Formats: sequence, C-alpha cells, structure tokens
Amino acid sequence: MLQVKNVSFAYTKSKVLNNISFDLAKGKTLAIIGESGSGKSTLLKLIYGEFDLKEGEVWWDNKQVLGPAFNLIVGYDFMKYVAQEFDLMPYTTVEENVGKHLSRFYPEQKEKRTKELLRVVELEAFADTKVKILSGGQKQRVALARALAKEPEILLLDEPFSHIDNFKKQSLRRSIFSYLRKNRISCLVATHDKNDVLGFADDMIVLDEKKIVIKDTPQNIYCNPKLPLVASFFEEFSIIDGAIYYAHQLQIVENSKHKAVVKRSYFNGKNWLIEATYQSNSIFIEHHCNLKPNSSLFFKLFQ
Ligand code: ADP
Ligand code: MG
Repeated sequence: MLQVKNVSFAYTKSKVLNNISFDLAKGKTLAIIGESGSGKSTLLKLIYGEFDLKEGEVWWDNKQVLGPAFNLIVGYDFMKYVAQEFDLMPYTTVEENVGKHLSRFYPEQKEKRTKELLRVVELEAFADTKVKILSGGQKQRVALARALAKEPEILLLDEPFSHIDNFKKQSLRRSIFSYLRKNRISCLVATHDKNDVLGFADDMIVLDEKKIVIKDTPQNIYCNPKLPLVASFFEEFSIIDGAIYYAHQLQIVENSKHKAVVKRSYFNGKNWLIEATYQSNSIFIEHHCNLKPNSSLFFKLFQ
C-alpha cells in the first residue's frame, strides 16, 4: 500500500502543496485532478522521490521513499513514473527502448515480454522503428510500455494520454487500465481528462488551493460535485438557487416557474447544448434540437 503522510512542499518560498495525506491500496487506481498549476505533477515527483521532503513522509508497504539526499539514483524498482515530458532514447528502436531495463541474459524472455507490452500499447507494427521519427502520441505509448517492462508494483502516470489522438485514446485506456488491474499494479494518475477517471479509477482526489479538497469514488464525486471547480471537470453546468446542475439535469418543458432566454445552441453529437440566460446568468440545458436565439423557454430541474 502507498501511504502519503502529511506532505507539504515548496519549490521556493510559498508552498505548492500543504499537508497532503492519502493511501492507495495494492492493485487500485487513484486519479488526481486539479487545475493546471495545482500541483499534480509535483505530487507525483515527490512520491517518486525526486525531491527531498522537509515535511511529511511517503511509504510503500514498509519501505520509506527517500529523496536524492539519501539516494544516489532517483527511483526504486517497485515504482515507475511516466513523466509529462517522457525521456526516451531517440536513436534506437521502439523495441530497444521498451526492453532497455530487461536483462539481455534471457533473450527469449526479453523478446516475449517486449512483444506483450507492445501489444498492450498497440505498437507491434512499430517494433523496429526508431523512436526519433515517431509522433508525440506514439512516443508516449513507448514510454508507457517501458515503464511496465519490469513489472512495477506501483505506476505513476502524469497526463498519460495527453498526446494521443482521439482515434486511439479509448482503446488504449481500456488496454492499459485492464493490464494494470489484471497484474494488480497500483496506479496514481494525474489528469485533466474526465475520461481517464470515469470508468477506470477506483477513487479520485481533487487538488485545490494546495490541498486535497475532496476524496471519494468518481461516481460519488460526479453525482455530488460540491464545488463548481469539480463540476466543471466533468461537464457544462449551471448554478441555480445555489445548487449545481449538469446540463442534462435541466429539461425544457411547456411551462414552469423557471423562464430563460436562448443565447446560442451548440451541437455536441448526441444532442444540443442550449446556452440561455436565466436571472442574468448563463445556464446550460441539454436538448434534442437547437433553438432560435432570443426565444423564450421554460425548464425544470432534476436532482
Ligand atoms: P500541475 O501538474 O497540476 O499543472 P505542477 O505540479 O506542475 O502543477 O506545478 C505546481 C506549481 O509549482 C506551479 O505554480 C508551478 O509553477 C510550480 N513549479 C512546478 N515546477 C517547478 C520548479 N521546478 N521550480 C519552481 N516552481 C515550480
Ligand atoms: Mg502537470
């Protein structure tokens, strides 16, 4: 189990993280969300042992993670970290990059393992390609495969699918997260993409103002987002009489006590998002067709 205990951190004078504590059980996935600059990457680096901690401790089972003052080489065998800026060997092939940390004394095992990982990240066809000529998304997949090569007990992922195009993203997510689950690898994933969280994470934490403001299952947080910041991570929302409503919780009806005026309609595939003015604020309503600007509508609310 990973235990983060009362960790605070500052690069310079002012703190970036203040008194962060949480646990992550074996084989579970925990998502960290928060606005850009909220300290997600810093938290992953601290857990990896990249910096020395003045306040707080990080433990994996009964081993304490220590920073560079105590470790000549940053990192531990049981933990792998895929940074936002992945660091690959550009002039060697995809296969060589993935197999870099695997023993060359067992060539058959090495080849089998490398093949398996290339399958997980859907790069079998690129085994012999030099990394230098790959796209950003392909490089990101090589970095993921390399991190998994030596079967870490815990994997730290920083925006792992950010460079990967939408054609590949969903199938790659399913492939990676089911591999982690099957192999009981714990995973901490920093992300700004709700699709990395819903459907894959067991728990999520929300970072804001240097602290963890919410920790719960994605389902509970989605259903009761508590803060506009959290709701905005998932979907368009409106604040009506002090409560947060997602666009699908507003329904257009013949008549009601809530009257609004249409500003614009946006096509979003499954249906339309209607932006309207209600009591001089913008609200968002999901609807099956578009509506004329400046027309009036009535809506009702669902919890
Ligand atoms: P996130 O990953 O959530 O976008 P970061 O952890 O990268 O956030 O950054 C948190 C804060 O720490 C930001 O204000 C950022 O400017 C600052 N920061 C990040 N890295 C460094 C660094 N190496 N030196 C000084 N400040 C940094
Ligand atoms: Mg970051």
